[in-house]
Amino acid sequence: SKAKQGGNNSECIKVAIRCRPMSKNEIKDQREQVVRMDINKGEVIIQKSSEEIPKIFTFDRVYDQYAIQENIFNEIAYPIIENVLEGYNGTIFAYGQTGTGKTHTISGLPKDPTHKGIMPRSFDTVFKSIECDTKCQYLVRASYLEIYNEEIRDLLSKNGQNKLELKEKDGTVYVKDLSTFVVKSPEDMMEVFNEGTVNRHVRATNMNDTSSRSHSIFTVTIESSQIGPDGKSHIKVGKLNIVDLAGSERLDKTGAQGEGAKEGIKINLSLSTLCHVISSLTDPKCTFVPYRDSKLTRLLQDSLGGNTKTCMIANIGPADYNIDETLSTLRYASRAK
Ligand code: ADP
Ligand code: MG
Repeated sequence: SKAKQGGNNSECIKVAIRCRPMSKNEIKDQREQVVRMDINKGEVIIQKSSEEIPKIFTFDRVYDQYAIQENIFNEIAYPIIENVLEGYNGTIFAYGQTGTGKTHTISGLPKDPTHKGIMPRSFDTVFKSIECDTKCQYLVRASYLEIYNEEIRDLLSKNGQNKLELKEKDGTVYVKDLSTFVVKSPEDMMEVFNEGTVNRHVRATNMNDTSSRSHSIFTVTIESSQIGPDGKSHIKVGKLNIVDLAGSERLDKTGAQGEGAKEGIKINLSLSTLCHVISSLTDPKCTFVPYRDSKLTRLLQDSLGGNTKTCMIANIGPADYNIDETLSTLRYASRAK
């Protein structure tokens, strides 16, 4: 199914905010909590002091420090997984300043039944429903890449393939020579993910940067075939993309100059293009979606808009000293909404 250009996709694109608890250090330093949430109204309220007029933002869902991983998965990710098993594409984004809980939300503690994140829960759900479905034959494959500085790196290739090319065939964008692995269980899938994540960190250290400056995309492709009443086999393919976006913090805060600053511009290009793409998709009047403006959005073109389902979880911290980054994340997420 081809992604629709423009049109009203607001039903299919959900934006949620998650605020992590105060960290040990923030508590020790007696930081003020400047974030409040009204879960029923879907509001995030930012207020520095009781004299200040509060700033209020509204979203599809908001999760406070007490939110549990299981509910976030059920409310946000599960509908997307269901859709993918039906042969449609879906994408889950984690957005936010470094240290606000993107990795916690996506991976969490993968072996801990309470604290495991969206990704291990998604893998469990995929294989459970495949086991229950005796009518279809399934093939599940995984790939894992990162986009750093508008360059694509394969996180699963043994020879550290860098600078992979985006190609287009019959209107579908794909990455040439990207490794894919067939996986047969949630444990298999987690192993593939862990291996890629180790590569991500090793490369980040070698190249003297941190993985917080790259976007990573873990893609699960689910192909099912079923013999129809006509005796022919019918094939459905659905793709789930789980995207850990680069930290959204502004570089001037960390004092990056030269190379660092240049990278920052490119990283922000992907983030700002993503915001434009999502807001174009949700604007009924919009007729043009700028997918081609960044690698990230070009790569995800067939998984954003149209019959696909997308959610963005924007993560924030609760403390006063992060208020500027928190406001910037809330504004970004509001535009994407
Ligand atoms: P990011 O990936 O955005 O840089 P992390 O997920 O690594 O952030 O989170 C930073 C720290 O905060 C980690 O120690 C993580 O365990 C903790 N943390 C984040 N979100 C939560 C949460 N909702 N509950 C408890 N701890 C959290
Ligand atoms: Mg992280």
